[in-house]
Amino acid sequence: MLSVSEAQRKLLETLIPVETEITTLTQAAGKVLGEAIVADLDYPPFSNSSMDGFAVKAADLRGASTNRPKNLKVVDDLAAGYIAGVSLKEGEAIRIMTGAPVPKGADTVIPVEMTDFNTRDSGSPLPGSVNVFQSVEYGSFVRQEGEDFQKGTSLISPGHRLRPQEIGLLAMLGKQEIVTYRVPRVGLFSTGDELLPLDANLEPGKIRETNSYTLGGLVASCGAEPIYLGIAKDRQDAVKNLLDDAIAKGVDLIVSSAGVSVGAFDFVRKVIEKFGKLGFWKVNMRPGKPIAFGSYQQVPFVGLPGNPVSAFVGFEVFLRPALYLLAGLKDWSRKVQKVRLLEPIESDGRESYLRAIITFKDGEWVARPLRSQSSGNLFSLTQSDGLIVLPAEESNLQAGAEIDAWYFSFVP
Ligand code: AMP
Ligand code: MG
Repeated sequence: MLSVSEAQRKLLETLIPVETEITTLTQAAGKVLGEAIVADLDYPPFSNSSMDGFAVKAADLRGASTNRPKNLKVVDDLAAGYIAGVSLKEGEAIRIMTGAPVPKGADTVIPVEMTDFNTRDSGSPLPGSVNVFQSVEYGSFVRQEGEDFQKGTSLISPGHRLRPQEIGLLAMLGKQEIVTYRVPRVGLFSTGDELLPLDANLEPGKIRETNSYTLGGLVASCGAEPIYLGIAKDRQDAVKNLLDDAIAKGVDLIVSSAGVSVGAFDFVRKVIEKFGKLGFWKVNMRPGKPIAFGSYQQVPFVGLPGNPVSAFVGFEVFLRPALYLLAGLKDWSRKVQKVRLLEPIESDGRESYLRAIITFKDGEWVARPLRSQSSGNLFSLTQSDGLIVLPAEESNLQAGAEIDAWYFSFVP
């Protein structure tokens, strides 16, 4: 039996990222950047005021106080978007709005609050002079040209998922089109004679097909696109038909659930063995020991176990990192939270993923394992906040022990 980390490594080493394409900026949020973004200008592009106030020479204000204000002659009025018509001389001030370029001759801005002209009302007439009640350091309230970044600075690396703040930064640079990785397409199908589609009436011995929907949500949460292929009966030709359909639809990865253990009706594994390539299929984990990895017509294939929780856990352990890699992400390491166990846990020595309620209490993260850990009980998975991970070989942990938790978070 393979260890989880060996199986992960073997799967990931067979995968390569999808190709890149051009995306418009408004379509780019959540996509993975496919080019290096280097500043082609200094930012801010010009020194500007960070406050509404008066542009001044700091030296003119030396010694200013509430009792002994310095009086400056106001010589111009400067809104954001305009250049001052005059340059500032000793003893002068120019009224200036946030974002307006600091005029020639000025080095500092005094906010209106520090003056006797404490108003921002639009249309308020410009005073002939202004009293300033305090001195400030040279350069105060000025955002200096190039203080955020300079031309040539590396701003965003390829392989980074574009969050709203990166989209804004790209807009600052005037990038209307950028190179991103294409969204990976993941073909999903289920197998089993007992499975019915959602629009069918339940019949004795049958259940509704569930896993495609759970897995579709997980695929989307990785920033990939689920392609729903349907249900195959427990027959070789039915499974092969859906695999062929997946190929016809041009998916980047095929994921099935059920039919991969050693049951008499487990045709998925047999079909992949016969018509494709089967890597390996037993991993030392719980739930979800039987997992098939391989390929079908050069497209990577992962066959998850059928039980709804096993399929979910198998996805989190193997397919989330796999999809991140396919999507072009450079760093797909999982954020792990250390939590304190509120109850003892046991396992049979396989790496165990247990559903838990995870909360922040009395200054620390704590986890209470769900009573039902049955791999068929999807309801108990909906009641949990995350999985706690008991490593292989550790057969039990006492209450109070620290353990790794994977807090569910479904934002790509
Ligand atoms: P199998 O891997 O085929 O032995 O299936 C294991 C268990 O998971 C059985 O109880 C199946 O009925 C159930 N199962 C398999 N596929 C699905 C599915 N797509 N949705 C819900 N339950 C499933
Ligand atoms: Mg089955």
